[in-house]
Amino acid sequence: MKTKQIKNFKMNDAVYKLRRQVIELIYEVKKEIKDLPRIEVRIGEPRNHKVLGVAELKNKKIWITKDAIDLGQDSLRNIVFHEIVHAVTGFGHDEKCPLMQSKLKTILNKNDCMKYLKGYIKHGATMLTMAVAS
Ligand SMILES: [Zn+2]
Repeated sequence: MKTKQIKNFKMNDAVYKLRRQVIELIYEVKKEIKDLPRIEVRIGEPRNHKVLGVAELKNKKIWITKDAIDLGQDSLRNIVFHEIVHAVTGFGHDEKCPLMQSKLKTILNKNDCMKYLKGYIKHGATMLTMAVAS
């Protein structure tokens, strides 16, 4: 899996540890949304230094930079949850939403991050149903 914006790191123990931090945050979401689809994660360095994360819309693939991980767990959660929304729903940016704005400005705490994420992903996007009209 590849993206133009981020150069993937080759997997080794150090990179595995970085990726683990991102996966732990995905588990936080999985605990709340049981049917969250499986999300593929790569860690790398940005080709443009401002990029923190990238998602392939609706394709359940995300890339997170080492810079993003180095910002610490709270910032990283905001970045990872943001990319999860892109990757699962295909939703783009909303500059009025503290989670889905295109630049990392507001660092939400864990509860608020989850609350905003759940506004976009109520159930995993693999479980959409249609009911008869009443
Ligand atoms: Zn985005």
